Amino acid sequence: MTTPHPTAPPAPRHIVVVGAGIAGLVCAQRLQRAGARVTVLDRATPGGRALTQEQHGFSINLGPHALYRGGHAFRVLRSLGIAPDGTVATGGDGERLGRRSPLPDGLGTWLHTELLPGSSRYLMAPAVRAILFPPPGTLADAIASFSAPLRELTEALVRVSTYSADPTRMDAKVAFDQVKLAITGGVLYLHGGWQSLVTPLQAGLTIQRQAVTAVRPGRVSTADGEIEADDVVLAVPPATERSLTGQDPGETAEAAVATLCLGLSRLPVPEVPFVLGVDRPLYLSVHSGWARLAPVGGALVHVARYLREGEQGHAEELETWLDGHQPGWRDLVVFRRYLPRIRVAGHPAPGKARPGIVVAPGLWRCGDSVGDQGLLADAAFASGDAVADGILAQRQPPRASPNRPSRPRPGRSYPHFYDFYPYFRGCRARACAPDLSKGSRFPSSEV
Ligand SMILES: Cc1cc2nc3c(=O)[nH]c(=O)nc-3n(C[C@H](O)[C@H](O)[C@H](O)COP(=O)(O)OP(=O)(O)OC[C@H]3O[C@@H](n4cnc5c(N)ncnc54)[C@H](O)[C@@H]3O)c2cc1C
Repeated sequence: MTTPHPTAPPAPRHIVVVGAGIAGLVCAQRLQRAGARVTVLDRATPGGRALTQEQHGFSINLGPHALYRGGHAFRVLRSLGIAPDGTVATGGDGERLGRRSPLPDGLGTWLHTELLPGSSRYLMAPAVRAILFPPPGTLADAIASFSAPLRELTEALVRVSTYSADPTRMDAKVAFDQVKLAITGGVLYLHGGWQSLVTPLQAGLTIQRQAVTAVRPGRVSTADGEIEADDVVLAVPPATERSLTGQDPGETAEAAVATLCLGLSRLPVPEVPFVLGVDRPLYLSVHSGWARLAPVGGALVHVARYLREGEQGHAEELETWLDGHQPGWRDLVVFRRYLPRIRVAGHPAPGKARPGIVVAPGLWRCGDSVGDQGLLADAAFASGDAVADGILAQRQPPRASPNRPSRPRPGRSYPHFYDFYPYFRGCRARACAPDLSKGSRFPSSEV
């Protein structure tokens, strides 16, 4: 065995990233570009929920996907030299009491929208105030004093911006900040679907198709054996993290939908490309009306129902709703996919922070249920980026660090913030850090 020369440069750190969704790919891509040795493991095709399926000339995202132009995704993609290519989705109708009317998109349209009857239009000051200065508490509390039509319209705008169907499980500030992001920056439908982001994010990475069965700091188990690493990154949903580590990552409020995705040979009613249910939690958008997602003459249509906890969708409800807006579609179907319930993302539960990026020394997490930066894919981009920052900020291998004792200091049964200090140095996304003042759920002695 040869002993490394004392002045030889240190071997590059080996980092194993579990999960090749957006969060895992962002993290892996940044680490690899910084010179680390990175192995990505995924039990399925890389891309996770940002996958795009190609069929009959249609590019089909896993449900309706829109990229927030003012969000973290854009910032992180820009830093990686990836430019999202698509079209800003504008306009569209709301539907209330079975009637379609243009959705308000500015003060003038608010004053004239037929989605608010008579006096409600002139009594919208509470909504404007709530959006500009969100009160603490749940969305349900924040809008309790609104008139019923104004409340419904506010809930619909929150639904389409956050995917959250339950105002009692949504923090008012989080909800209104996301509505502001949607209104001020707008959203992009991407040409070719979200695969156009996944492909450059996975370029040059070593991605192995393997299901991970257990994770500990420094060690990842698969059916084929164990892999050692200096750092392990969990880029999987919370339920998977729980089963891999045996620890509870903490509570998030789950946003979920039922989705019906249709490839049509043509669109029966081109004048109706977008309808948002105001008094029902329904959504219809012809994404190919904006982005290149369908063959010439064809149309890619997403219909969805926003779901509360424990709810399942029913295909008939979505199909009947589509009959009302695109009559004749049933004779034009080339492709059809229905999912009765799919998890969209994990939002902060009211009054609670999402779990932070540090699970334990040498063990990190990222994904759309992590940190307090952004919602939906923006949270996956931001937390993947923050974990890369955290790992790169470590100048020394964690176990050799003179700054960080490997065990809680004598006299304390829980780790102190300074035990983890090296992990936070230089970490841009400080807000992603867990609340260690209450003691980590993963003290180093337990893992
Ligand atoms: C219907 C729908 C609509 C959406 N619309 C929008 C939108 O409009 N705007 C927006 O910003 N976001 C939207 N999103 C959310 C966005 O898709 C997600 O936030 C993002 O893709 C999540 O990325 P992630 O890396 O956190 O997780 P995931 O994509 O879930 O990645 C996790 C990866 O881990 C892998 N994995 C799991 N278990 C294991 C294991 N044991 N071993 C190895 N690998 C494992 C999985 O295969 C997966 O590839 C939507 C999502 C859905 C479902």
